[in-house]
Amino acid sequence: MQEVQKPKKPLIFYYGVVILVLLLFNFFAMPWIAQRQVREVDYGTFIDMAEEQQLGQVEVQQQEQQIIFTNKDNTAIFKTGMMPDPDLTQRLDDSGAVFSGEIVEQANPFISILLSWVLPVVIFIAIGQYMSKKLMQRAGGPNAMMFGKSNAKVYVKSSEGIKFSDVAGEDEAKESLSEIVDYLHNPGKYREIGAAMPKGILLVGPPGTGKTMLAKAVAGESNVPFFSMSGSEFVEMFVGMGASKVRDLFKQAKEKAPCIVFIDEIDAIGQKRDGRLSSNDEREQTLNQLLTEMDGFEENTGVVILAATNRPESLDPALTRPGRFDRRVPVELPDLKGREAILRVHAKKIRLEPGVDFSKIARMASGASGAELANIVNEAALRAVRDGRSQVTQADLEESIEVVIAGYQKKNAILTDEERKVVAYHEVGHALVAAKQSNSAPVQKITIVPRTSGALGYTMQVEEGNHYLVSQQELENKIATLTGGRAAEELVFHSASTGASNDIEQATKLARAMITRYGMSPDFDMVALEIVSNQYLGGDANLACSAETQTEIDRQVVGLVRKQHQKAIRILEENRQKLDEIAAYLYEKETITGEEFMRILNQPA
Ligand code: ADP
Repeated sequence: MQEVQKPKKPLIFYYGVVILVLLLFNFFAMPWIAQRQVREVDYGTFIDMAEEQQLGQVEVQQQEQQIIFTNKDNTAIFKTGMMPDPDLTQRLDDSGAVFSGEIVEQANPFISILLSWVLPVVIFIAIGQYMSKKLMQRAGGPNAMMFGKSNAKVYVKSSEGIKFSDVAGEDEAKESLSEIVDYLHNPGKYREIGAAMPKGILLVGPPGTGKTMLAKAVAGESNVPFFSMSGSEFVEMFVGMGASKVRDLFKQAKEKAPCIVFIDEIDAIGQKRDGRLSSNDEREQTLNQLLTEMDGFEENTGVVILAATNRPESLDPALTRPGRFDRRVPVELPDLKGREAILRVHAKKIRLEPGVDFSKIARMASGASGAELANIVNEAALRAVRDGRSQVTQADLEESIEVVIAGYQKKNAILTDEERKVVAYHEVGHALVAAKQSNSAPVQKITIVPRTSGALGYTMQVEEGNHYLVSQQELENKIATLTGGRAAEELVFHSASTGASNDIEQATKLARAMITRYGMSPDFDMVALEIVSNQYLGGDANLACSAETQTEIDRQVVGLVRKQHQKAIRILEENRQKLDEIAAYLYEKETITGEEFMRILNQPA
């Protein structure tokens, strides 16, 4: 967790404080301290002392209307108010007192020196010390002046007690990593037989699938120090500092072996060195240092390097060659069983109503990563608190999936009657086309409550089980379902609206992938026309074909989508009565479940 830092104050502020303290001290504290030594007596005592010739020095302060005087041996100071006394001068003359000014200041020379010279110096030194400490913290620790050297404590992080049991699903990754745990527990066993542990293990997968968690769990299970650093932390402003940090990190790791070094987002330093003009010198030096360090330590030293990335294809081949990061552990998005397990792990932290159907939630959250599932559970708990309940219900979890997918319900979005009608027909169009195609997944829920994401309504489809292979037929049906919304609008209102933009985007993407990547076009056979570059981050595709082929691809994509659009219109025409019936029902209810939908659909007319 990041420590919250207070805003930094400018240096002038500290100087101001010093001057203020000194002024306050001289104006108020000094006179007060001096005054404390003066004893106040009545005028009679003064006259008695004068008559008995007991006075030492006397100072008459006309302005303040008071007399300050000392005793014969100058050991005590007294003060008295002035009376209208015409004989005062004579009286003082007779008493043999010495007339003097500034008795108070002279009273104790030692104390006055102490107060006016030594104390301010002490205050100065104290504030100076405080300031230099502050400045040091600002500059990044006591070693701030030693460039590139970093504090040993910086790297060792707590693995937060995370164990493999906290990471749900991801069984293959855990299995692969448990070997490392075993090695760290018992390196001798491996050394005896001559087996060498991989020096580096690369965890690859989409964001939020638990890569960091897995690395922490390996450290937690093997009970060894955990050195953690993000790739971007190495890249500094000055060339050479990142390399120095790498050296430092490995030096510390070797001292603390057996231990685990975890480098998150390694692509920040490990990118391919492609010799482009804009290449970053600092990054390259850091990478070179990392390569050298990895080569430098002998096998079986007990230092295991784990690194995580979601862009494995962008890594430098030198980094991924055997002897460096030679093992690659995929950490994929969880499947149905994995999602259910992750939900259960996170649900342990919240108070749940008995009988919550996790498998249904897991089915609804298809495609969600571990981090998203954790978020869903938390959103559900927040919703329960907001409603003043003490337990999280199934409805909370279902609603929070929608919140995570489509944003919060927009309470004050005012749609006109006509608009709501269009949205109702649009959504029912999707659902009806999906339901009427035998291979399409059944609908779970249809709603026309606007969401903060901008969706005016949506149809939630839930896949029954795990899907690893998708057939051409299924893809075509999906496209037809996506066009179903617009098809319904055209059929009923004879016009098009802007509401279908997202559907259009998705349908096009699917159709394009079918032709360019899945080899589902008879004309192109099994030729890859597109190359996916960022597999784990949205999957951007780059065309790899001639301009003529591109034109042909575009033509075929349009043809494919048009065919499915026609199919959707046909399905809706055949079921026009049901379309009207369900749309009217949805218009009235705003949200209907899959069962309600199927009931109306299956009712004999
Ligand atoms: P990554 O490093 O892959 O981006 P993290 O390990 O940082 O992802 O995971 C982020 C959060 O998501 C974790 O703190 C955890 O709450 C949750 N999470 C992700 N995957 C899992 C999983 N398999 N089991 C339990 N929680 C998970």
